[in-house]
Parts: sequence; C-alpha cells; structure tokens
Amino acid sequence: MSLSDDDDFEKALARLAGGDVVAIPTETVYGLAASIASDAAVRKVFALKKRPFFDPLIVHVAGFNQARGVAAEWPPLADYLARVFWPGPLTLVLPKRNEVNPLITSGLPTVAIRHPRHELTERLIAAAGPLAAPSANRFGHTSPSRAEHVAAEFPGDGLLILDGGPCEVGLESTVLGIEAGADGAADKIRVLRPGGTTEADLHESLRKWSRAVSIEKGTEGIQGPGQLKHHYMPDIPLILVGENGDPVSPDRLRRIGRELGAEPKRAAELVLDEDPAIAARELYDRMRRLAGSGADAIVVRKVASRGGGFWDAINDRLARAASFEIP
Ligand code: AMP
Ligand code: MG
Repeated sequence: MSLSDDDDFEKALARLAGGDVVAIPTETVYGLAASIASDAAVRKVFALKKRPFFDPLIVHVAGFNQARGVAAEWPPLADYLARVFWPGPLTLVLPKRNEVNPLITSGLPTVAIRHPRHELTERLIAAAGPLAAPSANRFGHTSPSRAEHVAAEFPGDGLLILDGGPCEVGLESTVLGIEAGADGAADKIRVLRPGGTTEADLHESLRKWSRAVSIEKGTEGIQGPGQLKHHYMPDIPLILVGENGDPVSPDRLRRIGRELGAEPKRAAELVLDEDPAIAARELYDRMRRLAGSGADAIVVRKVASRGGGFWDAINDRLARAASFEIP
C-alpha cells in the first residue's frame, strides 16, 4: 500500500459525512472510525468488527473544545493530564454529555476520550468532528499497526483505509478513569488499561500537580466492561513459556500438546527487541507474521526482568493474547 494523499483524505471526509466508516492511522494502532454524530456509522463499526455492544468505544478528538463537547465535566486533573499528554496515547474516562450516543459508551454514564498524535488523522478529526474508533481488527483479534494489517482484517468489505505509515507507538493507549475529589479529598485515577503512556511518565507528571492524587491499578469492580481476559489473539495459539532453557524443547512441546490436544509440528518463537519502545512498535506485526508463516503455534518467553515502562503494556497484551502459560 502507499501513503494516502489529499484525494484519499477528501474521500474519507465524504464517507464519514455520509454515515460510513473509515480506517484511520494513529500513533497507537489503526482505528475503525465513525462520526459520533452518525448512529448508522457507529452501528457499522460494531457490525464490521463483530464487536459486542457491551465493549465501549473511545471518542477521538482534535483539541480541548471537541473533548469538552463530549465530556459533561472537565475536572482540573483531566485538564492538566490532557495538557501534558495530548496529543498522545492517553485516554481519559469522564462523565459523558447526554447527547453522546449510548451505543458508543455501552450505556455507561462515562465516555472515553483521547486526542491521537498523527498529523493526517488530527486534520481529519478537525474537519469531520469527533470520531468513535476502536482498533481496526475483528473483535478479539491481534490489533493492526500497519495499513496492510487492516486490509487483511477486512478483505472485500470495501473499507476505505487511510494509510499513514506504520504506527509510531504500536500499542493501544493507556486508559485512565478520572474522579475529581470533592471538598479537599484526593483526586482519584484508576488505570483501567496499561498502554502507550507509561506509569513512570504519569507519576513524573503528577509530581508537578498541586493537589493530592491517588492512583489505583486494575479494573476490579470497575464500570468498564471492556477489559476482557482474551483479546489481541493471533490466528494460531500463542503460549507463554518460562524464560529458561529452550522455549520449544521436546518437554515443553509435549506439555503444550497436552493442552492443545495435539503437539505443535512447527512452533515458532516470537522474539521481542530488548528495547521496549521497539518491542512495542513491532509486537503486533511480528505476531501477525508468525501467524501467517505456516507455524502452528507461537511461543513467547516470559522474561521476569522485563517490567516497567512499555513492558507493562507489552506484558498485558501478551497475557491476553496467550491461550495459556506453561513454566
Ligand atoms: P479499543 O478501542 O478496542 O482499544 O478499546 C477501548 C477500551 O477503552 C475498551 O475496551 C474499554 O475498556 C475502555 N473504555 C472505553 N470507554 C470506557 C468507559 N466509558 N469506561 C471505562 N472504560 C472504557
Ligand atoms: Mg481493540
């Protein structure tokens, strides 16, 4: 595929205005976008992806005005984080305005908002208005970090794909629930999904924030139903294995075979770059290449020393992409 030009941009705008969906590049992964003003287009996003309606979409905006047009409240902490991290891989979950289509938020009282960092898409959103967009892949499948991944996900659907090159970050955004503390109580941040904005960056930014903040991890008991255990899965089983020894030793293959019902004949190892930023950028492309390589299983070594920074999100995605784990 070749990078999109002004013609493609105009076509995309026309399709969005006409209630159709368009695939868009962002710095995280490619998105399947619908104007939030078009009920038909939002429905088409769910239908194309075969995404269940209980999994809410992120609304993509270009700037604060559009963000405040969908959020019913814009607490100082949200304002501060948006100023630090937007445009970029940080999604803020805030109370929604009544006008926001409940299909987008799965009926929740909150809406997830972010300003993506990609020149072409920022221009598109500025012209078309806010776009509701999940990742441009079939539900539960590996996310797309290149335009050709999107084309492979939706063959024959007549989908217009804006090609903005390979995604710069390659992992989904970090999703934060924001609750403003009333009457001097600490503001609360809940990390609903680790992603392209690291916890270290978040902590660093909050050192310059004047009010007390508590940060809670995990999604236990949270209102967001989107944190599914199995997600991002390639077409062949992916298995996490212990870090020592041969990842595809006969003993390990036997164990894997017991779980799968048949021993893999060609297990391929997914090797990640030592540099977490590169590992993140290449993760989904490598998963897809191995899934299409003729191998019948993918094994990934779980390296204990890989934590913090982008590794948190990479490990989260691998755990969800995996069918199971063996020592
Ligand atoms: P995706 O667009 O596929 O990367 O997924 C977006 C994720 O954002 C969902 O899986 C949800 O977990 C999260 N999300 C979106 N809207 C909300 C919301 N209103 N409350 C909590 N989480 C949300
Ligand atoms: Mg997704």
